Amino acid sequence: MNLADYNTLQKILKSEGFNTKKSLGQNFLVNPDVCPEMAKSACDKETGALEIGPGAGVLTRELASEAKKVVAIELDNRLKPVLARTLADKDNAEVIFGDAMKINLVELIKEKFSDCKRVAVCANLPYYITSPIIMMLLESRLPIDNITVMVQKEAAERLCAEVGSRESGAVTVAVNYYAQAEILFDVDRYSFMPPPNVDSAVIKLNLRTKPEVELTDEKFFFTFIKAAFAQRRKTLVNTVSSSIGVSKDLLREALNAAGLPDTARGESLTMSELASVANYLAERK
Ligand code: SAM
Repeated sequence: MNLADYNTLQKILKSEGFNTKKSLGQNFLVNPDVCPEMAKSACDKETGALEIGPGAGVLTRELASEAKKVVAIELDNRLKPVLARTLADKDNAEVIFGDAMKINLVELIKEKFSDCKRVAVCANLPYYITSPIIMMLLESRLPIDNITVMVQKEAAERLCAEVGSRESGAVTVAVNYYAQAEILFDVDRYSFMPPPNVDSAVIKLNLRTKPEVELTDEKFFFTFIKAAFAQRRKTLVNTVSSSIGVSKDLLREALNAAGLPDTARGESLTMSELASVANYLAERK
């Protein structure tokens, strides 16, 4: 069964009376090169693969071939008969129907993948919740090796940007703290049925065993980062002090202690500069 073939996919969906829903980000892959490449990059035979949003099962089938087992979480119950059919020959694939944002993934991984050497998340993510899903996966400190996912091209560029570059944002800093991020390859919009309005890219986040920088107060660091990138064209002294409740003087002191001028803007600071300013403030605020 070649689910990446447009006609095959259409025939199966039609015979099960299934129509895609835009509100659930249902753009199904119909490019035969993408899923094998994603699955190979994320998994090996000792990996437990966690997929979010299997759709009709095109990536699930590839993951079942590459990994030890696959557990896929799908929100849309209407896909039950489709997936029962498309995964019938894949004994090592299981689908759980529910909201990936609400399921306890720590428990799920413990329960389903205790016999796997490592766990990887691999998915063609629903675009309406790309960043929340990625942040949830990272912040939950799941015992995972990598997150290999398809996202909108623009989101891929932001998520994988270098901290301190023009393309970086608060989410870049957060991703960098937990993982090393890279863009694997681009995927054009016509690789999907129906085609979305934008192109996509597959990114791989290799989770760090230890965070990129040492923080005195992790919660404060992320509050500081959010404030620092909220008005990116303004200086840190002018934007951050009121929103995080520290005086402009203390902020200037923190910048100078890190060897930075009073006029520094959040978007131009490197990871270690952001950490040293936040740590200085956290210790004295
Ligand atoms: N993996 C399939 C593919 O590549 O063709 C489908 C990918 S489609 C972009 C995203 C899938 O995520 C859809 O099947 C959609 O129903 C599902 N989805 C949307 N929100 C979800 C959520 N909160 N939890 C789990 N699945 C979700």
